[in-house]
Amino acid sequence: MIIVLKKNIPEENLEQIKSTLISNGMSFDVLTGVNYTLIPVAGDLTTSDMGRFKAMPGIHKIIRISKPYFMVSKEFCDKSVIDLGDGVKIGEGLSFISGPCSVEGPDSLDKIAKFLSGLGVKILRGGTYKLRTSPYSFQGLGEQGLKILKDVSSRYGMKCISEIVDVRHLDLFLEYTDIIQVGARNMMNFSLLKEIGKVKKPVLLKRSLSATVDDFLSSAEYLMSEGNEKVILCERGIQTFDDITRSTVNIASIPVLKDLSHLPVVFDPSHSIGASKYVPVTAEAAVILGADGLMVETHYNPTNALSDGFQTINFDSFEKMHKKISRLSAFLNEKD
Ligand code: PEP
Ligand code: MN
Repeated sequence: MIIVLKKNIPEENLEQIKSTLISNGMSFDVLTGVNYTLIPVAGDLTTSDMGRFKAMPGIHKIIRISKPYFMVSKEFCDKSVIDLGDGVKIGEGLSFISGPCSVEGPDSLDKIAKFLSGLGVKILRGGTYKLRTSPYSFQGLGEQGLKILKDVSSRYGMKCISEIVDVRHLDLFLEYTDIIQVGARNMMNFSLLKEIGKVKKPVLLKRSLSATVDDFLSSAEYLMSEGNEKVILCERGIQTFDDITRSTVNIASIPVLKDLSHLPVVFDPSHSIGASKYVPVTAEAAVILGADGLMVETHYNPTNALSDGFQTINFDSFEKMHKKISRLSAFLNEKD
C-alpha cells in the first residue's frame, strides 16, 4: 500500500505512523515530493485492518495495491477445472446446467430431466428451499425436493445442484446434491460460507446483486481459505438504477473475472435478464465473452411453473438455444 500524508503534518504524527508500521512488521520508505509526502509500504497486509491506519492523524489517504484475496487469484493457480465425477467437469468446454426454478414434484422433474438429458445436458438444477420476496409465495419442497432431485437426476445419469439457504441443512445437501449453490442473497453470509468451506463438495457461488467484483472474489476466498477448492463463480446480474430488465446484465465481468481468477465462471441469463424472450440471446453473449457454463431455467410449461415462470424458457426455446450455442462454442474454440 501507499500512504499519502496530509500537507505539513507535525513531526510527531509522522513518528507515530512510522512506529505503527514498524510494530506491524512493515518495511517502508518516506518520499518527500513537491506537493505530497508518500510512504510506500511492503509487508503482509492480509491480516491488517486498513481502517486503523486510515484513522491516524496526518494521513490523507491510503492506496491499496494488493487485493484482499489470494487463493482465488491467478497467482495461486492458472486454471481450475471442477470435476463432478463420471466425466462431468466444469471449466473444460461449455457446461449447461438447467432445470426448473423449483423442484415441483417427481413427475414434472422427470419430464424436464428426460428432455434435458436427451440433449446431452449433464447437470440438473432445481430449487428446494426458495428465498421468495413474499412469505406467501411457494417456498419449495425442502428435504422432499432434494430427494426428488437426487432420484430423478440419478435416473438420467445427471449431476444435480440446488441452493442452500440455511447452514442447518448442510448435511442434507451433502447427501443429496453434487453441487451446493449459494445464492445471490447469501453471497455475504460469511458464517454459511465458512461452513461450506470446510466440506469438499463443489460449490457454485452466485454474485450478490450489489457486490463489486472484489466483494465477489473475497466471498469465494472465504470458501477456499477454509479448504474447499472446488469453487465455481456464477454471474447472475446486478441491481442498478435501470429497471428495464429484472437485473442489469453484467456480462462484461466474465472476461475480467477470468483474468483475475482461475475459477470457472458460469453465467445465469434467466435471473439477470428476467424475461424468457431474451434468455437465449443473453446466453449467447455470455458465451462469446468467455463463460465456462450457463445456468438456465427450463420448464415444459413455464406459464404454470411455481416460481420464476416469466423468465423460464420452454423446451422448444431451450433446444434451439442449445443447438445454436453448441455450434457457437465450437466455432469460438476453433484454433486459427
Ligand atoms: C436461483 O438460481 O434459483 C436463484 C434464486 O438465483 P439468485 O440467487 O441468483 O437470485
Ligand atoms: Mn429462479
